[in-house]
Amino acid sequence: MTKVLGLTGGIGSGKTTVASLFFALGVPVYNADNEAKKLMNESPKIRTKLIALFGVNAYSNGLLNRSYIAQLVFKDKNKLDTLNQIIHPAVAAHYSTWLATQTYPYVVKEVAILFELGAENQFDFILTVTAPKQSRIDRVMQRDAKTSEEVLSIMKNQWDEALKIKKSDFVIHNIDTQLTAKEVEEIHVKILKII
Ligand code: ATP
Repeated sequence: MTKVLGLTGGIGSGKTTVASLFFALGVPVYNADNEAKKLMNESPKIRTKLIALFGVNAYSNGLLNRSYIAQLVFKDKNKLDTLNQIIHPAVAAHYSTWLATQTYPYVVKEVAILFELGAENQFDFILTVTAPKQSRIDRVMQRDAKTSEEVLSIMKNQWDEALKIKKSDFVIHNIDTQLTAKEVEEIHVKILKII
């Protein structure tokens, strides 16, 4: 059966960057966040539930109003929990179908809040990507035009990096992109040897 490498790390650490390096080596990659966004935009059932939870402003011009929802859930943990209860089963079903069709020896599943969800036992290996806090803030500010306060408030809802590292099979300190690429290749070779 296809093995699964869980890829996680705090906001701006470089998960997507690392995922694309695995993809470039031929490893199938599943991005739970992207699939969640797709389902929130495309599934009529989910749309109905989100409008019931957040009101009609949850969608704008037919598309999910992400900044509006983000604003609400960071203020209200109950709403965040309910949102997760709506989205996660739908993404889980989509992922199971996707995984069942994979033929490569292993796949990468990117999950930003893997540990926060208590999802460790769904993976054969876990890789945490880290980077210095200030670099992560700078990168996200540049990428998303967010303020440092906004990035910090997201970080507050995520586990401490040190705790994630302790619970991981592999760690990449994503500072120098060339070194990161080399480390991805090494992890890839190790995994293919182990499985
Ligand atoms: P998020 O949790 O917000 O989805 P992420 O962990 O997936 O973020 P990326 O999107 O891969 O992180 O990286 C964040 C930003 O930092 C991107 O714009 C990316 O191009 C840049 N970046 C990634 N790695 C490095 C690096 N080693 N040096 C400089 N910039 C980098």
